Amino acid sequence: ALPVIYAITPTYNRPVQKAELTRLANTFCQVPRFHWIVVEDSSVRTELVASFLSHSGMPYTHLNIFTPRRFKRTGMPRATEQRNTALSWLRSHRSRKDVGVVFFADDDNTYSLELFEEMRPTRGVSVWPVGLVSGRRYERPIVEKGKVVGWYTGWRPDRPFAIDMAGFAVNLQVVLGSPRALFKRRGSQPGMQESDFLKQITKVGDLEPKANNCTRVLVWHTRTEKVNLGNEPKHRQDSMVIEV
Ligand code: UDP
Ligand code: MN
Repeated sequence: ALPVIYAITPTYNRPVQKAELTRLANTFCQVPRFHWIVVEDSSVRTELVASFLSHSGMPYTHLNIFTPRRFKRTGMPRATEQRNTALSWLRSHRSRKDVGVVFFADDDNTYSLELFEEMRPTRGVSVWPVGLVSGRRYERPIVEKGKVVGWYTGWRPDRPFAIDMAGFAVNLQVVLGSPRALFKRRGSQPGMQESDFLKQITKVGDLEPKANNCTRVLVWHTRTEKVNLGNEPKHRQDSMVIEV
């Protein structure tokens, strides 16, 4: 059987949340052998997300953990606790017998279907380009003779792994076999989440380049515009409550 793709999506309540999850579900429901791990940044699993997932028709796991307020400042890494909660879930609910690949799928990015077929045969850790990130049209691992030898990036080229969260996947057995590998809060500089995590589980020379030796963009670091709700009524509200 094909390896199962476990996509870990941190998500939080805001006006565009259901629209983002709808875009993602429309993509993910077309991917065979796919398991969606959705982790809400919330002290409860909300009704909106619970009901959305139950109607999605996909295999999923719905988790939640609230980011402490002191970590919610600008410049601080986002969704650290949510990604770690998903890793813990995998470590306690999957075993040596399970064949799979783990991927971090933020809720606002754009994913091609081809990306999932590229990452599916990942043996250790695989990498590929990401579009619209680092102040450039794309960022990519530089590949020579089938090995990653450097990074084409517009931002902090000194990072040990100059790659976005959407630019790599990890074999499930690597996740299970390095039980202490987690995303760091303490001691982690902004933008170093990926490097701090990857250096716990792999080496640059061992990375498996995908997407035609990292020459094709199959995922985009899109960001959704903040919605203008300036005309929401303060007094004469609508006569019914509608979920958006
Ligand atoms: N996120 C979250 N809590 C927050 C902010 C973001 O769970 O307070 C999630 C968000 O839904 C997304 C991921 O963390 O899946 C990355 O956030 P964002 O897209 O805002 O980061 P950026 O695109 O700037 O890296
Ligand atoms: Mn984003």
